[in-house]
Amino acid sequence: MKILIVNAGSSSLKYQLMDMTDESIICKGLCERIGGGGRIVHDPINGEKLKMEIELKDHTQAFHEVVRLLTSGDTKVIEDMQEIDAVGHRIVQGGAIFKKSELVTEQVMADIESLIPLAPLHNHAHMQGIRACREVLGTEIPEVVVFDTSFHSTMPPEAYLFGIPYKYYEKYAIRRYGFHGSSHRYISAKVAEEMGRPIEELKIVTCHIGNGSSLAAVKYGKVIDTTMGLTPLDGFIMGTRSGAVDPSAICYLGEKENMTWSQMAEMLNKESGMLGISELSSDSRDLNDAADAGNERAALTLKMQRYQILKFIGAFVAAMDGVDAIVFTGGIGENSDPLRTVVCGGLKYLGVSINEEVNKIYRKGKGGEISTPESKVKIYVLPTDEEVVIARDTKAIVEGLKK
Ligand code: ADP
Repeated sequence: MKILIVNAGSSSLKYQLMDMTDESIICKGLCERIGGGGRIVHDPINGEKLKMEIELKDHTQAFHEVVRLLTSGDTKVIEDMQEIDAVGHRIVQGGAIFKKSELVTEQVMADIESLIPLAPLHNHAHMQGIRACREVLGTEIPEVVVFDTSFHSTMPPEAYLFGIPYKYYEKYAIRRYGFHGSSHRYISAKVAEEMGRPIEELKIVTCHIGNGSSLAAVKYGKVIDTTMGLTPLDGFIMGTRSGAVDPSAICYLGEKENMTWSQMAEMLNKESGMLGISELSSDSRDLNDAADAGNERAALTLKMQRYQILKFIGAFVAAMDGVDAIVFTGGIGENSDPLRTVVCGGLKYLGVSINEEVNKIYRKGKGGEISTPESKVKIYVLPTDEEVVIARDTKAIVEGLKK
């Protein structure tokens, strides 16, 4: 079975073709600057990577180009699109409607659209991706939607409600949803597998730390709390996102600086976090280098990030009344051994100890256990794979249709 995974952003379309007989990647690629120029990177695993500038006026045109690259010329990896058994779309916001992945139907599309107010940029873009796919491929090839929020749908109300009047939850569904669900799901299952124990008996803190970052408390296989909220802005500082801020600071700042709500959202999402504090870079590699060279603000930024992560780990251990394993993933979680050293160094009260030699070698897709045999909590570094989660759900739903 071959599955095409699509992740449509407002001006981008990421794709990956997988052969599900062995979950291998046949080809991946990215269309960028859709609607304002255009550029495609197409990367067949057994062929040559192609980069081209090409006018892409909308997602439909980008999808046409993807089909052309997959099926013709030097870049061809399949004879025609009939070889593709299904398409799996990544959707950021599933709200309270979607608790699991679903086959795309008219009703499902209407429901995703109804959630646009809760994730304006993301869900609108995903709908453009689904529409483009249907326009180009028709409706014969089954499509599945996999939500970033659905793994978090097991959170109890005491974790997902905000302390504002309940009527706003009832009226507008304002609550914590949580994101990066496919990643938290993948790494929590993977860590249980690595430990050789059923996930149903484990308490795990999953730390997805990248440009966007979130932690989840996964108790006995179910999320009971997570750091991201109504949108992926809540939690701890990220590349350019603020994480949690006292709401009064927002009101005060809005008045002082005469900012509109959309300017405020822009500032909190794009100009804050590690970029905002360091006034240097959102990229943790730059900040590590600058801090090593004596830049105090870069050092403070990294200190803040590590402190906030440590604080949430403590909160989630308390929420689960214990912890068996803590796992790091995401661009920073997988690659930054100094971050893991500092965070794990702050967990000595839990009996955590890590092997520094092993900690240093795990990066760039390599991972495993970094805790010592004496450590009371297992610590892992595991590369995440959100695409394989989308592909597996898509496969399961499509196989179910044939029965
Ligand atoms: P996204 O959330 O966009 O998927 P990633 O998970 O790819 O982001 O993470 C990107 C982050 O990973 C960047 O801040 C980058 O600096 C960081 N990163 C990548 N390699 C390293 C490394 N060797 N050391 C520290 N940070 C790294």
